[in-house]
Amino acid sequence: MDTETAAVTGHDVTTITCVCGNTVGDDGLIQANSEGVPIQAGADVPAGLASWPDDGELFTLCPSCGRVYRDSVVEETGTAPVAFRVDVATGPIAEAIRLHWDLSAGSDRS
Ligand SMILES: [Zn+2]
Repeated sequence: MDTETAAVTGHDVTTITCVCGNTVGDDGLIQANSEGVPIQAGADVPAGLASWPDDGELFTLCPSCGRVYRDSVVEETGTAPVAFRVDVATGPIAEAIRLHWDLSAGSDRS
């Protein structure tokens, strides 16, 4: 199976242009855990979102198409292969994405 790879500049996950064409400046990109669930930093994590992973292993979720990139791979290699895909149309991750945008409204971080 061919691995899809997103365009990225300078080993920086915030510069990813997803395979679907989405960027931080379009629909945004969301920090997620190893299951693709958006992460909420801090101690107060609402139901539906994931807490910051203990191992610090972060992923970047494209909320447009559900492709997920592994941050450590991007930072080490400067390439952004798709790690896995999640369902962003329905289900718990779709709900979590809505929640994420509600919480981050007014913030400029992804
Ligand atoms: Zn995408």
